[in-house]
Amino acid sequence: MNMVNCNCGSARFYADCCLLVHQDRQAAITAEQLMRARYTAFTRSLIDFLYDSFHPDSRRYQNKKEIAAWAQENKWMHLEIIQASTTTVEFKAHYLDKQFEPAVHHEKSRFKKDRGIWYYLDGRLLS
Ligand SMILES: [Zn+2]
Repeated sequence: MNMVNCNCGSARFYADCCLLVHQDRQAAITAEQLMRARYTAFTRSLIDFLYDSFHPDSRRYQNKKEIAAWAQENKWMHLEIIQASTTTVEFKAHYLDKQFEPAVHHEKSRFKKDRGIWYYLDGRLLS
């Protein structure tokens, strides 16, 4: 089950890639690694991981039902990293919506590191 290519498109096995971050968020050394792990968590409906990886400042605006709905209503096809800096990642998440129409979620996300752990702070939608 884990000897499959990671959903984030890294060309590594899931077991050698995002699974490490899903098991221990400190395994994400860079903001991009956390971003990839969050994308993969959407593909695998790892709702607790998605919730817990929100920075505490923005987590209080989140709820697991909404995260689960967004994760499960769509079929996540692949991730495209456009550019990444130390604290930001611009990406396109390609998916099929509820009607199985191809769609793209294009976002520039901000990340923040606290006590050795990267968190997703917020994101701005791009067109
Ligand atoms: Zn991965």
